[in-house]
This record gives sequence, structure tokens and C-alpha cells, in this order.
Amino acid sequence: MEKLYSNYPLKEHNSFGVDALAQYFYEFSETKEIEKFAKEKLKDYNTFKILGSGNNILLKGDIKGVIIKPTGKKIDIISKTDDDITIRAEAGIDWDWLVDYTIKQKWYGLENLSLIPGSVGAAPVQNIGAYGVEVEQFIESVEVISLQTSKIYDIEHENCNFGYRYSIFKTPENRDLLILSVKFKLLLKPRPNLSYKALSDSFNNIEEANPDKIREKVIEIRNSKLPDPKIIGNAGSFFKNPVVSKAVASQLIEQHPNIPNWNAPDNQTKFSAAWFIEQCGLKGHISKSGAGTYKHQPLVLVNHGKASGSDIWNFAQKVIAEVKNKFGIELEPEVNIW
Ligand SMILES: Cc1cc2nc3c(=O)[nH]c(=O)nc-3n(C[C@H](O)[C@H](O)[C@H](O)COP(=O)(O)OP(=O)(O)OC[C@H]3O[C@@H](n4cnc5c(N)ncnc54)[C@H](O)[C@@H]3O)c2cc1C
Repeated sequence: MEKLYSNYPLKEHNSFGVDALAQYFYEFSETKEIEKFAKEKLKDYNTFKILGSGNNILLKGDIKGVIIKPTGKKIDIISKTDDDITIRAEAGIDWDWLVDYTIKQKWYGLENLSLIPGSVGAAPVQNIGAYGVEVEQFIESVEVISLQTSKIYDIEHENCNFGYRYSIFKTPENRDLLILSVKFKLLLKPRPNLSYKALSDSFNNIEEANPDKIREKVIEIRNSKLPDPKIIGNAGSFFKNPVVSKAVASQLIEQHPNIPNWNAPDNQTKFSAAWFIEQCGLKGHISKSGAGTYKHQPLVLVNHGKASGSDIWNFAQKVIAEVKNKFGIELEPEVNIW
């Protein structure tokens, strides 16, 4: 089913709870509908944006042009062997619903990614990750429609260029690619991943760590650490953890011997964005507008009240400037700024 609205309110469609309007809002559930829309109608709008559930966007103001939202929720089994099963899940499915569903079917792998808010269609975009797992580990291919050419095709895993909170779907030259569905290859025998310390520490007995229990623990930890967007507007981690060359890293470590850091691919070093923000005295900060950082996790920017999108963006820029001034490191938003 497809629907087109004008002057459509977006407050319920973004986890910051920002009040803004979309000039036009188009939702569809069937591939043939978006194919026809892309071929015949899209040229009538100046510009477009693709929306999932709005958990990783900041609306700086009203949105011109048309917002396009896939709502299809079908799941198909593609193939099965003794060890694994390949399924195709449509973009409009709620991510955590899929995680729960797959565990109940005894299809494993996604359990560490429990409770990440969002849609299946957005999961490959920033290669969602948590508790030692990234979704790319279970993605076989991604089915897209080019909104420019109306062509529908699969992009295989190796061509998605997945990285830390990154994929080809984040690049400006691919902004016309709308993800219709994702093919996941899941395990039929559990292979618990307890590489993340907070998760392994949550088990008294590692032998107990089956996928159901891992899901339970991940939900427990997440609920204790992160604010619920239904109560305090937020979009999860607002900034990426900065990754820098060894040369820059050793200078920082020399100046700040207690700075937490990890090895990153390509001989680089990853630092904690939360640590930088906290060192600037901004943990739990609330500015006059109501924009601020979460008291338990400064990497999460929050809307404490009626902050507008531009208030939140101004506050984000203050954070970027203070960290740059104190440490010479430029924080980069993980959240998409619209
Ligand atoms: C409380 C909280 C906790 C979070 N924790 C985590 C975490 O642990 N790990 C993590 O990785 N993320 C986390 N996030 C971020 C967020 O959950 C993910 O980015 C999620 O994938 C967003 O899904 P969405 O459907 O809401 O995407 P949206 O916010 O709607 O869109 C995000 C981006 O994807 C694009 N997009 C959406 N759907 C499609 C599609 N079908 N085709 C093409 N492009 C599309 C949009 O244009 C936009 O650029 C958290 C967010 C919140 C609020």
C-alpha cells in the first residue's frame, strides 16, 4: 500500500522528538509502487530523503521535497544447509522485532544486536554494531532500487565496503540507493560472542551464555545505560569514536597518560569520544535550550525538553569546538544531520 501526504508532521518520526514538517511524505510497502513512483513521480519533487524509523537523524528544521519511507515487512527463507539459513527481510521491519523473531526460530547471530532502535533497511547503512558484533558479519547482500534510474539490483557483501559505522550507503554518490530488503545468513547452531567485556562479565557462568540469555543480558545492560527515546529524546551515540594515526595517538597519550585507547585497523588508534566530552566538563550538561548530554553517557546528546533541531545542532557544535580546542581532535557526528 502507498500513501502520499503533504505538510506531514515528523515529531513521531524522529527519536529526538523534534517538531518539524516534511513538505511531502511518501510511504510504500510494495516494490512495484516505489518503482513506478521513481519512474513517474519523483521528478516532480526538487529533492528527496529516505527515512527508516528516524533513530539516527537530527532534523535542523522543516524538510523540503519528499521523504520516502519503505514500510514492507515480509520475510522469506531463501536457502538452508545443515549449518546455516539465508533469509530475506524487508526494509520496513523493526530491527529488534527481527532479532527477537530470529532467536525464537532458532536462527542465531543477531542476539548481541538486541534492542538497537531502528528498521532493517537502515541497519546496513551505518553497519550497526554493539557488544562485539557488527551486522555486516551476517549480511549476504542488500537489495536496492536506484531512485535515479529505477533499476533494482542486489549489492553483494564484498561490494558494500562495510567498516566502523560505515558502508557505501553513506556516500553522497549513493544517496539515490533505497534499500528494499536485506539478505541475512544466520547460524543454526549457536556461536555465542562474548568478546565484549561488559557482556561476558554479566554472566556468572559462561556456560549459561546461550542466544536467549545473551539477548536478555544485552537488553538489561542497554536499559541501564542508555536513555529511552520515548522518555528523553536522543539518537544514541551522537559522535563516532575518533580514529587517528599512531603519530597523533602517541602525542595524545604522552600528554594524557590515562586516556583510554584501542588498536584500530590500518595501524591506527581509536579513542573514546565520551572521554573527550567528559574531560571538557560536559557530562550531564544541560544548556538553556534544553539540549545537553546524558548524565550517564556524555556521547549521547539529549533533548531535555523543547529544544529545536537547530538548538541541538548548535549544542553539538559547541561540543565539537570545545573538544577540538582542548585536544586538537575533531569529533564527527555519527547521526545524520538533515
Ligand atoms: C537509544 C539509541 C541507541 C542506539 N544504539 C545504537 C547502537 O548500539 N549501535 C548502532 O550502530 N546504532 C545505535 N543507534 C543508532 C540507530 O539505532 C541506528 O543507526 C539504526 O540503524 C537507525 O535506524 P532507523 O531506521 O531509525 O534509521 P533512520 O534514522 O531513519 O535513518 C538513518 C540513515 O539511514 C538512511 N536510511 C534509512 N532507511 C533506509 C533505506 N531503507 N534505504 C537507504 N537508506 C536508508 C537514512 O536516509 C539516514 O541517512 C542508537 C539509537 C538510539 C536512539
